[in-house]
Amino acid sequence: MDYQQILDDIYLQVQSLAGVGRQADYIPALAQVDPEQMGMCLETLDGDLFAVGDAQVRFSIQSISKVFALAMALSMEGENLWQRMGREPSGSTFNSMVLLEVEHGKPRNPFINAGAIVMSDILLERLPNPHRDFIHFVRALAGNDSIAYNPIVAESERSQGYLNAAIANLLKYHHNIKGDIEQVLRFYFLMCSVEMSCQELAHAFLAFANHRRPFDYNGVKLTASQVKRMNAIMQTCGFYDEAGEFSYLVGLPGKSGVGGGIAAFCPQRYGVAVWSPRLNSKGNSVVGMKALELLTTDTEESIF
Ligand code: GLU
Repeated sequence: MDYQQILDDIYLQVQSLAGVGRQADYIPALAQVDPEQMGMCLETLDGDLFAVGDAQVRFSIQSISKVFALAMALSMEGENLWQRMGREPSGSTFNSMVLLEVEHGKPRNPFINAGAIVMSDILLERLPNPHRDFIHFVRALAGNDSIAYNPIVAESERSQGYLNAAIANLLKYHHNIKGDIEQVLRFYFLMCSVEMSCQELAHAFLAFANHRRPFDYNGVKLTASQVKRMNAIMQTCGFYDEAGEFSYLVGLPGKSGVGGGIAAFCPQRYGVAVWSPRLNSKGNSVVGMKALELLTTDTEESIF
C-alpha cells in the first residue's frame, strides 16, 4: 500500500475545502489559532511513518484527551467504572445537560463532557500525583517526553467554563463527584489543554490498533479485552452526535476534539491523525473528516 501517495492525493483534494467551517472560539485561546493549517500523519504497526502538511505542529487535543483519561480510569476501576457512567452514544452535543438531568447525574458515556468530568474526579481520587501521572502516561503512549499541558489554554477555558461548571454542579448534586468541584474542573480543563502533533497522536493511537499487544504504558495496564471494549466506545461515541455519520463515511474508531484534531486507527494496521481547526456544526474538523473518508475509500481498509 503506497500510503504516502494516498496522503499526498488527499492533501491536494482537501484544498477545495479551504475556508469551510468555523474554528472553535468559545475557548478564547483557541480563537487565536491560524485556521488554515492542515496536517495528517499515519503510522503503521511496523513503525513506517507517512505525513503531509503541518503533521509536526502541536495543537490543542481537547476532547481527544478523554480517550487517555478513559484508559487510565478503566485500568484502575475496571467494570466498576460503569456504575458511574454509561457506554451508549448520547445523540446530543458533547456539553449537553439535558440527558444528565433526565438520567439523574449518570453521564451517558465517558466521551461527553459529563463523563470526562466524572473521570477527572476518579483520577484525582485514585492517582498519587494526578497532574504528573496523566501527562506521563500520554508521553509514554506517544513516545515523546516533551508533550505538555498548555496552562494558558486551560485557564482561558476555565475563565469561560460556565457550562462545564453547571455540569459539574449537577454531577455533584447527584453524588457522582466525590472531590472538590473546582479541583475536578481545573484538572478536566488541564487534560483538555494537552498539545500534541498529528505524528504524536498517530503513534499514541497505535496502542489501540493492536489489542493483542500488551497494553502497559507507564504503569497503566489494560487487558486485551479492555482495549477491545475501549475501541468499541470510540467507534460508537467518539465523534460527538455524529458518530453514526463518521462510521458511515469513514468506518474507523477514534476520537475528535474541538481543537480540530481527529485521532483514529485501523485495527491491526495503523494509527492516524488529522488536524485542521475549522469545524462543522457538530464540532468535527471539516477537512479532518473528509481526509479520513478519502483514506478509507482509497485504501479500501476500514473495520467494515
Ligand atoms: N475542553 C472542551 C470543553 O469542555 C472540550 C471539548 C471538546 O473537544 O469536545 O468544552
